[in-house]
Formats: sequence, structure tokens, C-alpha cells
Amino acid sequence: MRVAGLDYQQREVVVRECPEPQPAARNEVLFRVQESGICGSDRELAAFRHGWPPPGETFLTLGHEALGQVVATGPAVTGLRPGDWVVPLVRRPCDPPCDSCARGRRDLCVSGRYTETGIFGRHGYLREYAIDAEADLVRVPAGLASCAVLIEPLSVVEKAVETALKIHEPGARTALILGAGPVGMLAALVLNLRGFETSVFSLEPPDHPRARLLERAGVRYLPRIEGVRADVVIEATGSPAAAFAGFGALAPLGVYCILGSRNAVGEVPFIELMRQNQTVFGSVNAGPEAFTRAVEDLARFDRAVLGQMIQRAGLADIRRTVTAPPPAAAKIVHVVAD
Ligand code: BGC
Repeated sequence: MRVAGLDYQQREVVVRECPEPQPAARNEVLFRVQESGICGSDRELAAFRHGWPPPGETFLTLGHEALGQVVATGPAVTGLRPGDWVVPLVRRPCDPPCDSCARGRRDLCVSGRYTETGIFGRHGYLREYAIDAEADLVRVPAGLASCAVLIEPLSVVEKAVETALKIHEPGARTALILGAGPVGMLAALVLNLRGFETSVFSLEPPDHPRARLLERAGVRYLPRIEGVRADVVIEATGSPAAAFAGFGALAPLGVYCILGSRNAVGEVPFIELMRQNQTVFGSVNAGPEAFTRAVEDLARFDRAVLGQMIQRAGLADIRRTVTAPPPAAAKIVHVVAD
């Protein structure tokens, strides 16, 4: 079968042949990968700045945002059947499990010995067939298949939003998202759905297709944030400059979630954080419950907006998509199944 990934010896993005997986055993599920999305992490991986291959190997199959269709199940699988659509979780718990992994919150792993498909030491889903344990798969209604590839990035947003709302004192009404990439757009859709007065600030001009799409979804698009204050601020840019600017947009009691920024030297307004009882936290990855909420929310979003967020490409295009700058559409998705 064809797989796309990183050759760590040649330091190249390649499409190559590899053997098909074994039949599904016990609690395992064999599924055919329909499609897999590309994100900023994949671009970092392709620049060899992030991630690593499985132990003892020099190749890593890319792809951690996937949608597949079940082909066969092992005898101990109870909740999935051939034909079902599934989205895999990205992270696998550490072993022996830390307290978080033991209670099912692999996304909060404290040992750092977890693996992540297509990122840290485990092959991803830019492959025609894959096998996972049933516990690592989330079932998706067939009616959502056309946009279900967005469930993984949406799960990351669901976890971040849930944490922010848990931290905020009652009464949060306004939200500001920094960045109009796929994560920023999905964060805006989630907060809008929760009844927040939601704005997105990003560098794209207001007539950019993603800015227009956000406006169409009922989200205000801001080309500047001077003077803006919000109860919940979510940084989804990867840019330290934007992350520092976000502090100034926090309302009193505000909660600020960092999802993408790199480390940088700059001013953190500690005094304002104290005086205004504000909170800053970081969030990564997502656990099973956040994936379930992502499936539920995806069904509530405007399907036309979701459709316009996605631009599809073939597997052979992988070298271009992981090295080129992000496209006008929010999300590049590689169709794997013919
Ligand atoms: C994925 C997360 C993952 C993180 C690790 C993100 O792109 O969505 O699931 O934990 O990369 O860097």
C-alpha cells in the first residue's frame, strides 16, 4: 500500500510502498483511510523541526487528522462494525501509565512518555490501511463524513474552550480568537455556538476568503485589536508577537489560552494579570470526551461553511502541501482512498 511520510536519512518528504497491516486481532480495528488533513505541526515535521519516527526506524508516516472506514474488527470489538466511519485519537497513553493516562486523560500525560500518531514515535494515517485498538477510535455518523476530517483539530479546540470556561468566573460573554487558520476558525465556531459574542483577529485582509467565511458564520473579523477586550482569548497563531498582544486584549477576570505560540522574549504584564485576576494557560491535544464533543458540535455547524474550509489534494501532492505556505482555504486534506 502507499504511504506518505518523512525519510529521516534523506531528510525528504516521500510517497512509498509498504506492506499492508496484519488482520485485526482481539480488540483491534482495521480501517481504510479515506482522508487525512495537514496542519502547522505537519509543516514543522516536514522541516524536521518537530517529531520523530518510531523507535529503531528511519521513516515516519505523516498524518494525524484522519477519517477512515472500518473494514474488519477483532473478536473482542463491541462498538464498531465494518462500514462504520471512524476518527482516530492522536495520542497513545504512556506505559506503565501515569495518573492522567490511567484515568483516561492521555492528553494530560505527565510522564512525557506518550506517543502521537504521525508526530512522536508512531506512524500516522497518510496510508491506505491502518489498525488501531477500538479504544483509540471515535465513531462518526455517516452523515458527517464529508467534514469529519476536521474532528481532530476541533477536539483540540473543544478541550481548550472547556478548560477556559471552567476557569472563568460565571458571566463570560465575549471571546477573541487570534489567528484565522483552521484552529482559530474552529475555535470561533465553537464559541459562537456557545452564545459568545465572538471576534477573530488575524493578519489576512478583511476581504480574504477565510475572513469572509467567518463573517458568514456570524463571527466578527477584526483587522486590528487595539481597544478590544474579551473575557476569553484564544491564541491560535503560532506567533509570539500575536501571543504578547493577546495579553492586552484580556478583560478583567479574563482567561487566556495559548494553543500555538513559540517561546520568545517579550513583556508579560504580570501586574495586570494579578490586579485583574486574569489567568493564562496552555493546552495541547485532546482526550476521548473532547473528541465526542467535537462530533456533536460538528453536526451543529453550518455545513456550507465547513465545506469551504476544506481544499482536497491527492497523496502525490504531499511534498508541495507540507512545504508551501498555508492555502487560502483553511485546511488542506489529502484524499487517500481512490
Ligand atoms: C495535534 C495535537 C498534538 C500536537 C503535538 C497538533 O497538531 O493536533 O493532537 O498533540 O500537534 O504537537
